[in-house]
Amino acid sequence: MKIVILSRDSTLYSTRRLKEAGEAQGHEMRVIDHMRCYMDITSHSPKVLYQGKPLESVDAIIPRIGASNTFYGTAVVRQFEIMGVFTANTSQSISRSRDKLRSMQILARRGIGLPVTGFAHSTQDIDGLIDLVGGAPLVIKLLEGTQGIGVVLAETYQAAKSVIEAFRGLDANILVQEFIKEAQGADLRCFVIGDKVIAAMKRQGAPGEFRSNLHRGGSAEKIRLTPEERSTATRAAKAMGLRVAGVDLLRSNHGPVVMEVNSSPGLEGIEKYTSIDVAGKIIDYIEKNAGPNKDRDRIQY
Ligand code: ADP
Ligand code: MG
Repeated sequence: MKIVILSRDSTLYSTRRLKEAGEAQGHEMRVIDHMRCYMDITSHSPKVLYQGKPLESVDAIIPRIGASNTFYGTAVVRQFEIMGVFTANTSQSISRSRDKLRSMQILARRGIGLPVTGFAHSTQDIDGLIDLVGGAPLVIKLLEGTQGIGVVLAETYQAAKSVIEAFRGLDANILVQEFIKEAQGADLRCFVIGDKVIAAMKRQGAPGEFRSNLHRGGSAEKIRLTPEERSTATRAAKAMGLRVAGVDLLRSNHGPVVMEVNSSPGLEGIEKYTSIDVAGKIIDYIEKNAGPNKDRDRIQY
């Protein structure tokens, strides 16, 4: 098959591994910078062009769209979908997962366990918002944050109130969330492909840090999930319409709760800590499922 990896940087670990894994299985792999693609959207034969030439007879794409390029990146993915090319994740599912509020609403609608979460535009009802999530301590998150930046733990009511006011004063959109203390600074990254969790690791924040992001100095180890955790992760990916997803869970007193669902989960940490060939499994999935015009998204939001 001819498989295109949409990535801005061919030297990134995840990009390199996907290319290597595809080539090892006999596919023609090409890394294309989606920000340099341009499109013919009017013609009867829609096209994506790159370096002056149309990209032809592509069987599948693997989008690796960074958070800062979601708008243009998903437009390129959509163009491939219109051309009937199979994609490892659809443009709609990527857009959906990039907005934490929208994701939470979709997950809640499917009855998937979540930390109690509130959202407000105005600062006139901060007290109500804080009460809604059970008071301090609580977690405040920027809607479009990644890598733990923009996630704050407010230990007291006063701290919560000032941080919410400060963020809102800057016009930033935020979520306010119940703090899952019993998770003890750890979360579970579940790598889902299709309807299976193919690898999972437990990430632990550095001492004194409640955020377990590896970018914030956390460490990780391979872990066995409980059947309930496994099904929560696969249901979350399905609810979002993602075929390849990194689902992050917290172990709470009321069972596993989903914190976020990532549409371009990194391969480096998960392959390193679990020794599982995750890139190879993504290629296997594409081999089994790719076919023209397979993309039909039935999720409403
Ligand atoms: P980001 O997208 O920046 O990674 P997350 O929502 O994943 O933001 O939060 C970063 C980290 O903070 C999580 O991995 C987790 O360890 C911790 N965390 C986030 N929300 C909560 C919460 N409600 N309770 C306890 N810890 C949390
Ligand atoms: Mg996270």
